[in-house]
Amino acid sequence: MKEEKRRFDVAVIGAGPAGMSAAIRVRFVKEHEAMTLSTVLIDPGPVGGLLNAGRTRFVTGPSNLFEAELLLSALQRDVANFNIPVRQARAVRVLRRGDGSFATELLDGSVVRSSAVVLATGSRPLSNEMKWLGKGVFITSRGVSFFPGLLAEAKAFASQADRGIPALDAAPVVVVTNRNVRDLLPAFRGLGHPLLFLVPPGDERKLKGMPGEVLPAGSWRILRKEGNVLVVSIGEGTAFLSAGAIVLDYISFQRQPLLPEFDFDLMEERPGVPKVDSMLQTSCPGLFLAGDVTCRYASIACALADGVTAGFGAYTHAYSRMYGKEPPLFAYRAPEKPAAYLRLVRPGRRPAARKRHEKRKGG
Ligand SMILES: Cc1cc2nc3c(=O)[nH]c(=O)nc-3n(C[C@H](O)[C@H](O)[C@H](O)COP(=O)(O)OP(=O)(O)OC[C@H]3O[C@@H](n4cnc5c(N)ncnc54)[C@H](O)[C@@H]3O)c2cc1C
Repeated sequence: MKEEKRRFDVAVIGAGPAGMSAAIRVRFVKEHEAMTLSTVLIDPGPVGGLLNAGRTRFVTGPSNLFEAELLLSALQRDVANFNIPVRQARAVRVLRRGDGSFATELLDGSVVRSSAVVLATGSRPLSNEMKWLGKGVFITSRGVSFFPGLLAEAKAFASQADRGIPALDAAPVVVVTNRNVRDLLPAFRGLGHPLLFLVPPGDERKLKGMPGEVLPAGSWRILRKEGNVLVVSIGEGTAFLSAGAIVLDYISFQRQPLLPEFDFDLMEERPGVPKVDSMLQTSCPGLFLAGDVTCRYASIACALADGVTAGFGAYTHAYSRMYGKEPPLFAYRAPEKPAAYLRLVRPGRRPAARKRHEKRKGG
């Protein structure tokens, strides 16, 4: 593992709507005494997370139909304008150092140091699968009752791919899922097509007796289409499989997100889901959660709002570590004792903390 020289105030793991909103909030704090801190976005997949999974999204209701592309390009513009670096890598472990700071280990072998961490990892790390939606990749989107119909569509696609091939050699419908898929078993009965379940390492032990092969894979990537069959590399790219169709089972993923490892314990809301307070801070000071990873309500509006809350929370944590006091005068969060701050401010003068900050950043 190679520790990077640059140390960030806030590292944001996951660049979906929650992570982007958190990182932007860390950089975009309004005057008065407030000042921007440094941040980095870490994600192995495309920036935007599940915003890449379709053109149109309802943000709150049918009258609020937003084009995902428009929302994504607005977020991307801010990420670029605020010079937020994006590291294309998967975070595998978050360690807490003796001084209370964090070291995030990435799959590419590097280590990102930060004062605070926002974990906005949704329900799983993305690879390049969103590019293949409608070309053999199917995604659960409209609730459990639609799942059997989606499987039937995937089977029809895979059967078309296998036209003329004896059933025994047919490329399977690959279901990318986790241990929770056991609760969806009735939907697989009588499907009449070979099945392969691709699960996070360790989950295969919980899935004995499934109606198909169960394969553990830490990561996977779609390489190409051969005829109508998708060729997929798994793990470090040393093993391959053929898929007639791929089903991404978000019903199972949204019930238990795939988190990086920690070298500390977290209090849990329920098994596998960390507990958070009103600023979305976990029981580990400085570690915040935002978006689907909280397992509260999976929606873009909530993810954006969570990002703002966790972003401000992480900002406050990093600022307090640096200056030994909470940052004053947030635009939307009045301090407990306003008079104490007002005494510090003289019209027309730059606040002392801002001067110190500008000096530190060489500004
Ligand atoms: C098919 C579908 C349709 C939907 N339609 C709607 C809709 O119409 N309206 C609506 O409001 N909501 C909709 N949702 C829900 C909405 O997409 C999510 O609630 C929202 O995207 C959550 O944002 P997020 O940032 O928390 O997670 P995500 O968008 O999932 O982003 C998480 C990011 O974290 C990254 N990540 C994960 N693990 C790691 C790691 N270890 N290291 C680094 N990065 C990591 C992932 O690669 C991903 O890019 C839909 C969801 C699905 C699946």
